[in-house]
Amino acid sequence: LVQLSVPLNFIGFIYREIRQGLTDIEQMFDLLDVPQEITDKPDARPLAVSAGKVEFRDVHFAYDPSRKILKGISFEVPAGKTVAIVGPSGAGKSTISRLLFRFYDVQGGQVLIDGQDVRDVTQQSLRGAIGMVPQDTVLFNDTIAYNIRYGRIGASEEDMQKAAELAQIGPFIERLPEGYRSMVGERGLKLSGGEKQRVAIARTILKAPPILMLDEATSALDSHTEQEIQAALDLVSKGRTTIVIAHRLSTVITADEIIVLKDGQIAERGTHAELMRQHGLYASMWDRQREATEAEERLRIARESD
Ligand code: ADP
Ligand code: MG
Repeated sequence: LVQLSVPLNFIGFIYREIRQGLTDIEQMFDLLDVPQEITDKPDARPLAVSAGKVEFRDVHFAYDPSRKILKGISFEVPAGKTVAIVGPSGAGKSTISRLLFRFYDVQGGQVLIDGQDVRDVTQQSLRGAIGMVPQDTVLFNDTIAYNIRYGRIGASEEDMQKAAELAQIGPFIERLPEGYRSMVGERGLKLSGGEKQRVAIARTILKAPPILMLDEATSALDSHTEQEIQAALDLVSKGRTTIVIAHRLSTVITADEIIVLKDGQIAERGTHAELMRQHGLYASMWDRQREATEAEERLRIARESD
Protein backbone atom coordinates (compact mmCIF):
# COMPACT_ATOMS: atom_id res chain seq x y z
CA LEU A 1 0.00 0.00 0.00
CA VAL A 2 2.86 2.34 0.84
CA GLN A 3 4.47 1.57 -2.49
CA LEU A 4 1.28 2.38 -4.31
CA SER A 5 0.31 5.51 -2.43
CA VAL A 6 3.54 7.32 -3.20
CA PRO A 7 3.11 7.37 -6.98
CA LEU A 8 -0.58 8.07 -6.57
CA ASN A 9 0.19 11.05 -4.37
CA PHE A 10 2.72 12.15 -6.91
CA ILE A 11 0.23 11.90 -9.75
CA GLY A 12 -2.26 13.82 -7.64
CA PHE A 13 0.36 16.47 -7.08
CA ILE A 14 1.16 16.80 -10.78
CA TYR A 15 -2.51 16.84 -11.63
CA ARG A 16 -3.20 19.66 -9.15
CA GLU A 17 -0.21 21.61 -10.44
CA ILE A 18 -1.41 21.33 -14.03
CA ARG A 19 -4.94 22.23 -13.09
CA GLN A 20 -3.77 25.24 -11.09
CA GLY A 21 -1.66 26.33 -14.05
CA LEU A 22 -4.67 26.09 -16.30
CA THR A 23 -6.97 28.01 -13.98
CA ASP A 24 -4.35 30.76 -13.64
CA ILE A 25 -4.19 31.02 -17.41
CA GLU A 26 -7.98 31.01 -17.70
CA GLN A 27 -8.23 33.76 -15.11
CA MET A 28 -5.60 35.76 -16.94
CA PHE A 29 -7.65 35.49 -20.12
CA ASP A 30 -10.76 36.41 -18.16
CA LEU A 31 -9.01 39.58 -17.07
CA LEU A 32 -7.65 40.38 -20.51
CA ASP A 33 -10.70 39.28 -22.43
CA VAL A 34 -12.33 42.67 -22.64
CA PRO A 35 -14.95 42.46 -25.36
CA GLN A 36 -14.19 44.36 -28.54
CA GLU A 37 -17.11 46.76 -28.24
CA ILE A 38 -15.74 48.34 -25.06
CA THR A 39 -13.91 51.32 -26.47
CA ASP A 40 -13.58 54.96 -25.50
CA LYS A 41 -16.08 57.30 -27.11
CA PRO A 42 -14.42 59.76 -29.50
CA ASP A 43 -15.24 62.56 -27.06
CA ALA A 44 -14.49 60.57 -23.88
CA ARG A 45 -13.13 62.72 -21.08
CA PRO A 46 -11.09 61.67 -18.09
CA LEU A 47 -13.21 60.77 -15.08
CA ALA A 48 -13.25 63.66 -12.62
CA VAL A 49 -13.50 62.16 -9.15
CA SER A 50 -14.65 64.66 -6.56
CA ALA A 51 -16.14 62.81 -3.60
CA GLY A 52 -16.19 59.31 -5.08
CA LYS A 53 -19.89 58.50 -5.04
CA VAL A 54 -20.85 55.32 -6.89
CA GLU A 55 -24.33 54.71 -8.21
CA PHE A 56 -26.00 51.82 -10.00
CA ARG A 57 -29.27 53.05 -11.50
CA ASP A 58 -31.73 50.39 -12.67
CA VAL A 59 -28.96 48.26 -14.18
CA HIS A 60 -29.85 45.41 -16.51
CA PHE A 61 -27.26 43.02 -17.85
CA ALA A 62 -26.86 39.67 -19.61
CA TYR A 63 -23.71 38.00 -20.93
CA ASP A 64 -25.90 36.06 -23.31
CA PRO A 65 -29.23 37.60 -24.44
CA SER A 66 -31.10 34.43 -23.52
CA ARG A 67 -30.20 34.63 -19.84
CA LYS A 68 -30.62 37.81 -17.81
CA ILE A 69 -28.09 38.16 -14.99
CA LEU A 70 -28.93 41.56 -13.46
CA LYS A 71 -32.58 42.59 -13.54
CA GLY A 72 -32.87 46.20 -12.46
CA ILE A 73 -30.26 46.81 -9.77
CA SER A 74 -30.24 50.20 -8.04
CA PHE A 75 -28.02 51.24 -5.16
CA GLU A 76 -25.84 54.10 -4.07
CA VAL A 77 -22.53 54.13 -2.25
CA PRO A 78 -22.10 57.60 -0.74
CA ALA A 79 -18.56 58.95 -0.76
CA GLY A 80 -16.40 57.25 1.84
CA LYS A 81 -19.07 54.71 2.82
CA THR A 82 -19.09 50.94 2.53
CA VAL A 83 -21.75 48.83 0.85
CA ALA A 84 -21.56 45.05 1.11
CA ILE A 85 -23.04 42.71 -1.46
CA VAL A 86 -23.88 39.21 -0.31
CA GLY A 87 -25.92 36.38 -1.75
CA PRO A 88 -25.75 32.87 -3.14
CA SER A 89 -23.10 31.89 -5.64
CA GLY A 90 -24.15 32.80 -9.18
CA ALA A 91 -26.39 35.64 -7.99
CA GLY A 92 -24.47 38.22 -10.04
CA LYS A 93 -22.18 39.75 -7.39
CA SER A 94 -18.94 39.63 -9.36
CA THR A 95 -20.82 40.85 -12.43
CA ILE A 96 -21.50 44.08 -10.54
CA SER A 97 -17.76 44.55 -10.04
CA ARG A 98 -17.10 43.91 -13.73
CA LEU A 99 -19.66 46.53 -14.75
CA LEU A 100 -18.16 49.14 -12.42
CA PHE A 101 -14.76 48.48 -13.99
CA ARG A 102 -16.46 48.54 -17.40
CA PHE A 103 -15.28 45.14 -18.55
CA TYR A 104 -18.78 45.04 -20.03
CA ASP A 105 -21.43 47.65 -20.79
CA VAL A 106 -24.86 47.60 -19.21
CA GLN A 107 -27.85 46.86 -21.46
CA GLY A 108 -30.17 49.08 -19.48
CA GLY A 109 -29.72 51.72 -16.81
CA GLN A 110 -26.49 53.42 -15.82
CA VAL A 111 -23.37 53.02 -13.72
CA LEU A 112 -22.26 56.41 -12.44
CA ILE A 113 -19.26 57.74 -10.54
CA ASP A 114 -19.78 61.24 -9.17
CA GLY A 115 -22.60 61.63 -11.68
CA GLN A 116 -20.53 60.59 -14.70
CA ASP A 117 -21.64 57.56 -16.71
CA VAL A 118 -18.72 55.12 -16.91
CA ARG A 119 -19.36 54.86 -20.68
CA ASP A 120 -18.59 58.56 -21.15
CA VAL A 121 -15.15 58.59 -19.57
CA THR A 122 -11.83 57.14 -20.70
CA GLN A 123 -11.21 53.58 -19.56
CA GLN A 124 -7.74 54.50 -18.38
CA SER A 125 -9.03 57.19 -16.00
CA LEU A 126 -11.87 54.93 -14.83
CA ARG A 127 -9.57 52.03 -13.98
CA GLY A 128 -7.08 54.41 -12.41
CA ALA A 129 -9.73 55.56 -9.93
CA ILE A 130 -10.76 52.09 -8.79
CA GLY A 131 -8.71 49.70 -6.71
CA MET A 132 -9.83 46.20 -7.49
CA VAL A 133 -8.89 43.34 -5.18
CA PRO A 134 -10.27 40.32 -7.02
CA GLN A 135 -11.09 36.98 -5.51
CA ASP A 136 -8.28 35.36 -7.45
CA THR A 137 -5.27 37.50 -8.12
CA VAL A 138 -3.11 36.68 -11.11
CA LEU A 139 0.50 37.68 -10.56
CA PHE A 140 2.94 38.65 -13.30
CA ASN A 141 5.97 36.43 -13.92
CA ASP A 142 8.27 38.98 -12.37
CA THR A 143 9.61 39.96 -8.98
CA ILE A 144 7.34 40.45 -6.02
CA ALA A 145 8.48 44.09 -5.95
CA TYR A 146 7.30 44.56 -9.55
CA ASN A 147 3.97 42.98 -8.71
CA ILE A 148 3.36 45.37 -5.83
CA ARG A 149 4.69 48.42 -7.72
CA TYR A 150 2.22 47.72 -10.49
CA GLY A 151 -0.20 49.72 -8.32
CA ARG A 152 1.93 52.83 -8.76
CA ILE A 153 4.79 52.37 -11.18
CA GLY A 154 7.66 54.52 -10.02
CA ALA A 155 6.84 54.25 -6.31
CA SER A 156 9.94 54.35 -4.11
CA GLU A 157 11.37 51.20 -2.55
CA GLU A 158 10.37 52.55 0.84
CA ASP A 159 6.72 53.18 -0.13
CA MET A 160 6.53 49.79 -1.81
CA GLN A 161 7.80 48.00 1.30
CA LYS A 162 5.53 50.03 3.55
CA ALA A 163 2.52 48.93 1.47
CA ALA A 164 3.64 45.32 1.89
CA GLU A 165 3.89 45.80 5.67
CA LEU A 166 0.39 47.29 5.81
CA ALA A 167 -0.96 44.40 3.75
CA GLN A 168 0.53 42.00 6.33
CA ILE A 169 2.86 40.36 3.82
CA GLY A 170 6.13 42.19 4.60
CA PRO A 171 7.61 39.67 7.06
CA PHE A 172 6.76 36.79 4.71
CA ILE A 173 8.60 38.46 1.83
CA GLU A 174 11.61 39.33 3.97
CA ARG A 175 11.99 35.68 4.94
CA LEU A 176 12.34 34.65 1.27
CA PRO A 177 15.97 34.04 0.21
CA GLU A 178 15.78 36.81 -2.36
CA GLY A 179 13.29 38.98 -0.49
CA TYR A 180 11.49 41.52 -2.66
CA ARG A 181 13.56 40.36 -5.68
CA SER A 182 12.02 36.88 -5.58
CA MET A 183 10.38 35.85 -8.81
CA VAL A 184 6.70 34.93 -8.49
CA GLY A 185 3.97 33.77 -10.83
CA GLU A 186 3.71 30.62 -12.86
CA ARG A 187 7.41 30.42 -13.58
CA GLY A 188 8.53 31.55 -10.14
CA LEU A 189 7.56 31.04 -6.56
CA LYS A 190 4.02 29.78 -6.15
CA LEU A 191 2.14 31.79 -3.57
CA SER A 192 -0.95 30.58 -1.76
CA GLY A 193 -4.32 32.20 -2.42
CA GLY A 194 -4.04 34.25 0.77
CA GLU A 195 -0.51 35.42 -0.06
CA LYS A 196 -1.51 36.44 -3.57
CA GLN A 197 -4.46 38.33 -2.18
CA ARG A 198 -2.20 40.21 0.20
CA VAL A 199 0.06 41.15 -2.72
CA ALA A 200 -3.05 42.54 -4.43
CA ILE A 201 -3.92 44.48 -1.26
CA ALA A 202 -0.37 45.88 -1.08
CA ARG A 203 -0.72 46.94 -4.72
CA THR A 204 -3.99 48.68 -3.90
CA ILE A 205 -2.58 50.41 -0.82
CA LEU A 206 0.19 51.77 -3.02
CA LYS A 207 -2.30 52.88 -5.66
CA ALA A 208 -4.43 54.64 -3.01
CA PRO A 209 -7.52 54.92 -5.25
CA PRO A 210 -10.63 56.85 -4.18
CA ILE A 211 -12.88 53.85 -4.87
CA LEU A 212 -12.36 50.27 -3.78
CA MET A 213 -13.91 47.09 -5.10
CA LEU A 214 -13.13 44.05 -2.97
CA ASP A 215 -14.14 40.55 -3.95
CA GLU A 216 -13.22 38.61 -0.84
CA ALA A 217 -11.55 35.26 -0.82
CA THR A 218 -13.61 32.26 0.12
CA SER A 219 -13.04 29.19 2.21
CA ALA A 220 -9.44 28.42 1.25
CA LEU A 221 -8.09 30.64 4.01
CA ASP A 222 -7.57 29.54 7.59
CA SER A 223 -9.10 31.83 10.18
CA HIS A 224 -5.76 33.35 11.23
CA THR A 225 -4.92 34.35 7.64
CA GLU A 226 -8.44 35.58 7.19
CA GLN A 227 -8.14 37.86 10.22
CA GLU A 228 -4.86 39.27 8.94
CA ILE A 229 -6.36 39.93 5.52
CA GLN A 230 -9.41 41.50 7.11
CA ALA A 231 -7.21 43.85 9.11
CA ALA A 232 -5.38 44.85 5.94
CA LEU A 233 -8.65 45.40 4.07
CA ASP A 234 -10.14 47.50 6.89
CA LEU A 235 -7.09 49.68 6.78
CA VAL A 236 -7.19 50.26 3.04
CA SER A 237 -10.95 50.93 2.94
CA LYS A 238 -10.92 53.54 5.69
CA GLY A 239 -12.35 56.79 4.33
CA ARG A 240 -12.69 55.36 0.80
CA THR A 241 -15.85 54.53 -1.08
CA THR A 242 -15.91 50.76 -0.82
CA ILE A 243 -17.96 48.00 -2.36
CA VAL A 244 -17.24 44.67 -0.76
CA ILE A 245 -18.48 41.37 -2.08
CA ALA A 246 -18.49 39.26 1.02
CA HIS A 247 -18.49 35.51 1.28
CA ARG A 248 -17.93 35.44 5.00
CA LEU A 249 -20.71 37.36 6.65
CA SER A 250 -18.57 38.28 9.66
CA THR A 251 -16.93 40.92 7.47
CA VAL A 252 -20.14 42.81 6.59
CA ILE A 253 -21.49 43.61 10.06
CA THR A 254 -20.06 47.12 10.02
CA ALA A 255 -21.08 47.97 6.42
CA ASP A 256 -23.27 51.07 6.05
CA GLU A 257 -25.64 49.07 3.89
CA ILE A 258 -25.88 45.40 3.01
CA ILE A 259 -27.46 44.33 -0.25
CA VAL A 260 -28.67 40.77 -0.55
CA LEU A 261 -28.62 39.72 -4.17
CA LYS A 262 -30.59 36.75 -5.42
CA ASP A 263 -31.14 35.74 -9.03
CA GLY A 264 -30.05 39.15 -10.27
CA GLN A 265 -32.42 41.10 -8.06
CA ILE A 266 -32.09 42.81 -4.70
CA ALA A 267 -33.95 40.52 -2.32
CA GLU A 268 -33.24 42.46 0.88
CA ARG A 269 -31.30 45.54 1.92
CA GLY A 270 -30.42 47.31 5.16
CA THR A 271 -27.95 47.29 8.00
CA HIS A 272 -26.94 44.07 9.71
CA ALA A 273 -29.32 44.70 12.64
CA GLU A 274 -32.23 45.56 10.33
CA LEU A 275 -31.72 42.47 8.21
CA MET A 276 -31.39 40.17 11.22
CA ARG A 277 -34.73 41.47 12.51
CA GLN A 278 -36.39 40.61 9.19
CA HIS A 279 -35.62 36.88 9.62
CA GLY A 280 -35.32 36.57 5.84
CA LEU A 281 -32.62 35.35 3.49
CA TYR A 282 -29.80 37.24 5.21
CA ALA A 283 -30.74 35.92 8.65
CA SER A 284 -30.90 32.37 7.34
CA MET A 285 -27.50 32.77 5.66
CA TRP A 286 -26.15 33.74 9.08
CA ASP A 287 -27.68 30.71 10.73
CA ARG A 288 -26.17 28.41 8.14
CA GLN A 289 -22.76 30.01 8.43
CA ARG A 290 -22.85 29.81 12.21
CA GLU A 291 -23.69 26.09 12.06
CA ALA A 292 -20.83 25.49 9.62
CA THR A 293 -18.37 27.39 11.82
CA GLU A 294 -19.47 25.46 14.88
CA ALA A 295 -19.12 22.14 13.07
CA GLU A 296 -15.62 23.16 11.95
CA GLU A 297 -14.74 24.09 15.51
CA ARG A 298 -15.97 20.75 16.88
CA LEU A 299 -13.91 18.93 14.25
CA ARG A 300 -10.80 20.90 15.19
CA ILE A 301 -11.22 20.18 18.89
CA ALA A 302 -11.78 16.48 18.17
CA ARG A 303 -8.63 16.37 16.05
CA GLU A 304 -6.55 18.15 18.66
CA SER A 305 -7.61 15.75 21.43
CA ASP A 306 -6.54 12.74 19.29
P1 ADP B 1 -21.48 35.56 -8.20
O1 ADP B 1 -20.25 36.43 -8.15
O2 ADP B 1 -22.64 36.12 -7.46
O3 ADP B 1 -21.20 34.17 -7.79
P2 ADP B 1 -21.33 36.09 -11.07
O4 ADP B 1 -21.63 37.53 -11.17
O5 ADP B 1 -19.89 35.69 -11.22
O6 ADP B 1 -21.95 35.48 -9.74
O7 ADP B 1 -22.14 35.30 -12.17
C1 ADP B 1 -23.53 35.42 -12.32
C2 ADP B 1 -23.97 34.46 -13.41
O8 ADP B 1 -23.41 34.84 -14.64
C3 ADP B 1 -23.55 33.02 -13.14
O9 ADP B 1 -24.62 32.19 -13.47
C4 ADP B 1 -22.40 32.81 -14.09
O10 ADP B 1 -22.35 31.49 -14.51
C5 ADP B 1 -22.73 33.75 -15.23
N1 ADP B 1 -21.49 34.26 -15.86
C6 ADP B 1 -20.46 34.84 -15.23
N2 ADP B 1 -19.51 35.24 -16.10
C7 ADP B 1 -19.95 34.88 -17.33
C8 ADP B 1 -19.42 35.02 -18.66
N3 ADP B 1 -18.24 35.61 -18.89
N4 ADP B 1 -20.18 34.54 -19.67
C9 ADP B 1 -21.37 33.95 -19.43
N5 ADP B 1 -21.92 33.79 -18.22
C10 ADP B 1 -21.23 34.25 -17.18
MG1 MG C 1 -18.19 35.98 -7.57
